[in-house]
Amino acid sequence: MTDILQQDSDRDSRHLLRMQRKKAVVDEKIAAAQDERGVLMINTGNGKGKSTAAFGVVARALGHDIRVAVIQFVKGRSDTGEEGFFRQFARTNPGCLNWHVSGEGFTWETSDRARDAAVACAAWDVACGYLADPAIGLIVLDEFTYALKYGWLDSAPVLAALAARPPLQHVIITGRGASEVLIEAADTVTEMTLVKHAFKAGVKAMPGVEW
Ligand code: ATP
Ligand code: MG
Repeated sequence: MTDILQQDSDRDSRHLLRMQRKKAVVDEKIAAAQDERGVLMINTGNGKGKSTAAFGVVARALGHDIRVAVIQFVKGRSDTGEEGFFRQFARTNPGCLNWHVSGEGFTWETSDRARDAAVACAAWDVACGYLADPAIGLIVLDEFTYALKYGWLDSAPVLAALAARPPLQHVIITGRGASEVLIEAADTVTEMTLVKHAFKAGVKAMPGVEW
């Protein structure tokens, strides 16, 4: 019994020491990170969670009274839970959020490349308005990677507008297959990895989970 107590106490001491060392390393890193500026984030990859993670940040920003603009470059459906929820929030908090939906569906649902490009250009013009407005603290360009991937927009002016945005403005870009130049320009890049998805097992898109 005493042996067991002694072993527990040794384990506790070792754990305490390990945690103290860990804390010192973390504290040092926190002290070294002193910049305050807008960050460009990219959520890419084949796994689920790119857009929903971005909308989580929208909620987080709104909670800090940060003004937000969302531009959806690919219109999936018109009745998503997030759009409904945030629009309702915006009705009681006027001016906090602008939400735009463009496009006509995923690219395999449309067949007119020129029209896709024109729609993407129009949405990008809307985005440029926000990218020039320091009152907007967060912009979400949802499913924007496809506009570059399919050549609807040129990379150079996109990168230039992102680089010239107000210093404290955050931008999140979502979508699969983010281009190298976009990744290069970003501060934070997250690759969602597909491990399993219920759809593959025949589960239909469930409200509240997929839309
Ligand atoms: P979410 O909106 O759930 O965060 P996402 O933005 O990562 O997903 P998209 O590529 O934009 O994923 O896909 C749009 C829709 O397809 C969403 O309803 C999403 O839940 C679903 N989805 C995402 N990844 C997969 C997958 N690997 N297989 C099947 N459906 C998926
Ligand atoms: Mg998405």
